[in-house]
Amino acid sequence: MTAGITRVAEVVVEGTALFLDKRFDYAVPPDVDVAPGVRVVVPMRDSVRSGIVWAVREVAEAGRLRAVMRVMDRVPVLTPHQMRMAEWLCDRYGATLPEAVSAILPGAFRVRVRKVLVPNDGAQVPDDVKTSALFRWIAESGPEWSEVRARSKADERTARAWVGAGFVREEIRVDEAVGEKRRAYLVARAPDEVLRREAESRRRRARRQSDLLQQLAEAGEMMWDRRAFPPSSVAPLVEAELLAIAERRVTRAHPPRNEDAAWPELTPYQASAVRALTEMARQGHGVALLHGVTGSGKTEVYMHLIRAAIEGGGQALVLVPEIALTPQLVQRFERRFGGRVAVLHSGLSLGERREEWTRVLDGDANVVIGARSAVFAPMRDLRLVVIDEEHEPSYKQEDAPHYDAREVAMWRAREAGALVVLGSATPSVASMLRVEQGDARLVSLPVRANQRPLPPVDVIDMREELRAGNRSIFSRRLAEELERTVSEGMQAILFLNRRGYAHAALCRACGHSMECPRCDIHLTVHRKAEGHALVCHYCGHEEPLVRRCPACGEEALVPYGLGTEQVEQHLLRTWPAMRVLRMDWDTTRRKGALESIIERFQRGEADVLVGTQMIAKGLDFPRVRLVGVVAADAMLTLPDYRANERAFQLLTQVAGRAGRADTDGITLIQTYQPGHRAIQAARSHDYRAFYERERESREFFRYPPFCELAVFLASHAEERLARGAAARFERELARSASAASLTVLPAGPSGIRRIDNVYRYQVVMKYASWQDVKEDVVRAYRLVKEKMNRLGGSAVLDVNAQRIG
Ligand code: ADP
Repeated sequence: MTAGITRVAEVVVEGTALFLDKRFDYAVPPDVDVAPGVRVVVPMRDSVRSGIVWAVREVAEAGRLRAVMRVMDRVPVLTPHQMRMAEWLCDRYGATLPEAVSAILPGAFRVRVRKVLVPNDGAQVPDDVKTSALFRWIAESGPEWSEVRARSKADERTARAWVGAGFVREEIRVDEAVGEKRRAYLVARAPDEVLRREAESRRRRARRQSDLLQQLAEAGEMMWDRRAFPPSSVAPLVEAELLAIAERRVTRAHPPRNEDAAWPELTPYQASAVRALTEMARQGHGVALLHGVTGSGKTEVYMHLIRAAIEGGGQALVLVPEIALTPQLVQRFERRFGGRVAVLHSGLSLGERREEWTRVLDGDANVVIGARSAVFAPMRDLRLVVIDEEHEPSYKQEDAPHYDAREVAMWRAREAGALVVLGSATPSVASMLRVEQGDARLVSLPVRANQRPLPPVDVIDMREELRAGNRSIFSRRLAEELERTVSEGMQAILFLNRRGYAHAALCRACGHSMECPRCDIHLTVHRKAEGHALVCHYCGHEEPLVRRCPACGEEALVPYGLGTEQVEQHLLRTWPAMRVLRMDWDTTRRKGALESIIERFQRGEADVLVGTQMIAKGLDFPRVRLVGVVAADAMLTLPDYRANERAFQLLTQVAGRAGRADTDGITLIQTYQPGHRAIQAARSHDYRAFYERERESREFFRYPPFCELAVFLASHAEERLARGAAARFERELARSASAASLTVLPAGPSGIRRIDNVYRYQVVMKYASWQDVKEDVVRAYRLVKEKMNRLGGSAVLDVNAQRIG
């Protein structure tokens, strides 16, 4: 470095306030190393914050710039590609740079910076100060100024005086979210020897030790579970040199699996899909839509493409809608690619997430599987992106920065020259339109991998059942098929898209329905140990269900509208011997609960699995013969322009769970609207017909993909302020230059006007191209957001919104 030249770091500072949405300049001390992408600690106003160095430049005169206080990394935590991605997120979604960075970088890399008060060691502190309660508190807890202020104004003044006098000083504490984790492993010295000696000495050893040796002989090594094998039982085995204890850095969220080499022979359709897609990949960036009917073996195609990508030295990214719902899929990848797989999901601890991230960054893992946020993983040589079940709405993030993982993936793939494969049995209207417009290439798998036909889908008109005097929730046909399936030792899946016992509680005398006191939404009935309860699915409010109606006083409140709990109960009441499992949000909240339900059903421990849409996604149970949709009507009436598309997709997906192996399957759909086109299309497995009609109606009513939607949402505990903010936003847009390119729907309450006592008002916009309108929309958004934040409310902008309100 030349004398007189100072380096200046441009830093993106962490925080959600709008004023932080620019880079701040800091001088870099001469003896300090910085590079773009490293984390630093910097002074900001009268506090300290963490940030990321975005650029470094040299200036002749640093002037009065404040200096970088600490550098956290030698190796950047963000790659240049990820930094460009952050800038793109801002441009595409109106996000701020700190918002974009916090979406990209896992929480495990967050640095917590605090300025705390501590006694000044060198100072002569008078005894009366030293023994005062305030001084002792500071010495013990090292508080921040805000904590001192919270104690009392007088204490704050005293503390300031002590800082002035040198009794107390400010100290900066930097906590990295997590360090590296180490765990103890038990390692078999020589597995064969262990097994032989175990057999010899079985009689003499305690049961516990036998168990341990048996397990070790099979596994070679395992994490030391001290509860199962306390040190007292392990120590003698170490002494006998049968096993050793090793400290290991935890590098895997899952134990590494051995790759099993079995790659089944591809079906002719799979083989030609692999050929076409491999050829595309060779040509660099491109987008393919792999439309494969349920059970057609899309996963096998993905795996061949991945193998080609990593054998060529590249990396592959596989996005799935919800990783927790797809343990079977993850296992399939792990069996094929073993330790080269990194799995990113929200169940990981901070340390595990950091480890997985680092393995990707270092190139130790070259196949990354994860849900939405895995799209930000730090691959350096991305060759292939697979987006499985590309039609799923969960790819869209519902919080700031409201990104759509599909769009981010396409951006990344374009930058990296990689192939994108969108996979689905029911492609979204948007993706199929992309094919029509020549922006994506269609590759089809029209038949199942087991060469059997798709299961027949029969529609049952529930109005007929009622006329015939059957008031049960099961039609006669469904009841018969259930009995037959179970008696033949096969399994059934019953699908209902509503959790809880009943949809609502309704008064039979006056029609009153019970609403949440804090939200504008009706309460759902749930079964509890102590009887029925009313639960709000939005804020968690809970109250017992009583008979007396609060509106009219009659003893006439009853549960109304089916939920999964009630289906389970009806099954058990009608067929007491039937073994039933239920899979919905309520039964899978506990960690590991979902995997356990899937495994138990797979092992045949239940005859029937009742569930919500969770059961529609990607599950592969060979013994399922029958799929029953208990009430399709619950899906047909959603107030959303995509309601038909969602209904068709869900029906097709859940029907696709039947007859996946060597048996014929059947699907029965119960409904009061048998003629509905989503149902008819699902019945005839006619994606094409459904798509054509849906496309037509979207074009006619000008809905996506024939335009894009954005939603501005203002929230405040005072309704007047939320309403005012939305109105202000609308006015700003009306006088903006791009008003002509925007269709702005009148400001009004969001779909649910109040959640947890916070009022929500929105403005919906339609436009042809975000590029044309973004400047004005983002300007208006920031103007109103700034004001809302000052007033204690909030404002968010959802660009390319997938739902309205
Ligand atoms: P999809 O994701 O398209 O619904 P899967 O990839 O889950 O389908 O495949 C459906 C079933 O067919 C799985 O049990 C899978 O193991 C099996 N399968 C797929 N391809 C083959 C093949 N080439 N040979 C034998 N079995 C296959």
